[in-house]
Amino acid sequence: MNNRLLLGLILLLATISSTPACALVILQYHHIATDTSRIPSTRPEEFAAHMAYLQDEGFNIVSLSERLDPNAPRAGTISSREVAITFDDAYRSIYTEAFPRLKALGWPFTIFVASNLVSEHGGQYLTWAELKEMQAQGAEIANHSTAHQHWARRPQSVSESSWRAQFTEDTLSAQAAINAHISQAPKHYALPYGEYYPDLLEDLDNLGYLIFGQQSGAVPLPNHPLVIPRFPMGGPYAAMDSFKTKVNSLAFDRTVRIHNPVLSALETRPIANAAALGVTSVVGLNCFGPAGAIVPLQVGKGILIQSDEPLKAGRHRYNCTRRDDRTGRYQWHSFFWMKQRSDNTWYPEP
Ligand SMILES: [Zn+2]
Repeated sequence: MNNRLLLGLILLLATISSTPACALVILQYHHIATDTSRIPSTRPEEFAAHMAYLQDEGFNIVSLSERLDPNAPRAGTISSREVAITFDDAYRSIYTEAFPRLKALGWPFTIFVASNLVSEHGGQYLTWAELKEMQAQGAEIANHSTAHQHWARRPQSVSESSWRAQFTEDTLSAQAAINAHISQAPKHYALPYGEYYPDLLEDLDNLGYLIFGQQSGAVPLPNHPLVIPRFPMGGPYAAMDSFKTKVNSLAFDRTVRIHNPVLSALETRPIANAAALGVTSVVGLNCFGPAGAIVPLQVGKGILIQSDEPLKAGRHRYNCTRRDDRTGRYQWHSFFWMKQRSDNTWYPEP
């Protein structure tokens, strides 16, 4: 082998190894129903179509534990297509609509429960007996707080250390409730509303919890961000065309360990830097914000993403994708924002 060929080969290998080459995608469902509000609902026929596509295309359906727990890390390959299925809030339709299909397919899934809602209500929520039955068929029952609180909204009268202690205590309390009823709760926590601020999560991270958000994107492995992305699958996000793109998506070459989503009154047009994802050129990079397409701007080594329009109070995302020429699939990352109102108070839930 001549030197030039050898150098070319080394450069090729270096390029490949700098890519996480991982395709773990986590789907996030709420209701599987037609008689619930549209945004958090996936119609039963849409859910059936999603599962049929995954089956027909030979996706590997994995549990969060087998794929993400620190004692079993693996990077995956660029040709692997792995999907994990999750449900938040323990609504009844998970049992009546989703479970029969998943049981027949023999696929694992995770249900994130707010423990008080399960134990206090019944009705529109699952019972512990139903959760236990699903666990026996391959479901993981995991933590979604005790009462689905807004933990990113610390009251001014409460000190930071006290609030963080309350958050950790609430998480451990929910974990204990799940373990008391069902046992074997994995240390997996889905943030209510996907909301957080970075310092809030320190204790949970130190306690060994995996933390899941609601910002879209494929999961880079083995070095995933602190708040692990999931693709919301409700309302318009259930459409089949975009479902195919999402389950086939890849992570960007690099990731940001923790992103601060909180925007105060004065921060109306936040800037994200796609260079942190390993992006070195604006070519081929497509980003969208709440007001539509965002033209990425190269400034020195930075690749800056900024909405043309001010963000309104509420939750927002900048979604960025880039086609991977090797596979024809899309790298996908979402920057999450929580925009406070002009008086620095929080937006209401829609
Ligand atoms: Zn929830």
